[in-house]
Amino acid sequence: MKIYTEVASLQQEISRLKKSGHTIGFVPTMGALHDGHLSLVSQARNSAGITVASIFVNPKQFNDPEDLRRYPRTPEKDAGMLEKAGCDILFMPDEKEMYPPDFHLDYKVGYLDELMEGKHRKGHFQGVVTVVYRLFMIVQPDMAFFGEKDYQQYVIIRKMAEDLHLPVQVIPCPIIREPDGLAMSSRNQLLTPEHRAHAPLIARTMLGAREKMRTLSPEQLKQWVAESINQDPYLELEYFEVVDSGTLLPVNTWNEKNSLIACIAVWAGKIRLIDNLKFSS
Ligand code: AMP
Repeated sequence: MKIYTEVASLQQEISRLKKSGHTIGFVPTMGALHDGHLSLVSQARNSAGITVASIFVNPKQFNDPEDLRRYPRTPEKDAGMLEKAGCDILFMPDEKEMYPPDFHLDYKVGYLDELMEGKHRKGHFQGVVTVVYRLFMIVQPDMAFFGEKDYQQYVIIRKMAEDLHLPVQVIPCPIIREPDGLAMSSRNQLLTPEHRAHAPLIARTMLGAREKMRTLSPEQLKQWVAESINQDPYLELEYFEVVDSGTLLPVNTWNEKNSLIACIAVWAGKIRLIDNLKFSS
């Protein structure tokens, strides 16, 4: 695996590979890798000639400085995992390399920024599209792989690629979970042992909610989820929404023909966890 920290030398290598007919599959990450990230690498390897991963903890997408400060950073371990997973190229820029002075992106996320994660993390998605756009310009991927763990992020990036006619296919990859159901996340390693032990209730509640949806209205279901999470002293619900999986707009009745997805954010002490589950109507 080749490791690049500079844009210019990475671009040289990418254009050499493209000229010789290779397709590029791209997996952007913020590091502290786990099997969820590696599943994206594996899907990239199955779909593209060359797999490029990036590790960059993007300050622009953190709305909470404390969250940025404590975000886990394990670059050597990550590089070893990527090499073992068969990744061809790792791009690890620092902030100066990533963002030229005064770099900004004119693209606005729009109404998707007002919902769920956007509503609770002001500026987060604007930071995400800025870094992903810049990475797309640098890496020039044919395909880019995003986890459905961050479902709203995937929908926003897919829309940006469509809106701007970017020549990249944005490919969703399923959520990878721990054996007890907790969705894998770099932030899980920041949980105290007690919070970690209680966190699987999030996924269990989502499964329970999917069962219950036939007998409760959307409003009642929200209440049931709030009670299920908040009766646990280690967890606190931030939001639970059942939304259309294409538009991400909330549904008010179960009559919708469209496919539905339930999205949740929960505080486990100082750590914020998100998860989602596809619901059929
Ligand atoms: P992050 O490093 O958190 O920015 O995540 C990088 C990519 O990995 C994003 O596309 C995430 O959606 C994806 N990802 C993170 N956790 C998981 C998971 N448990 N299953 C599948 N994909 C994931």
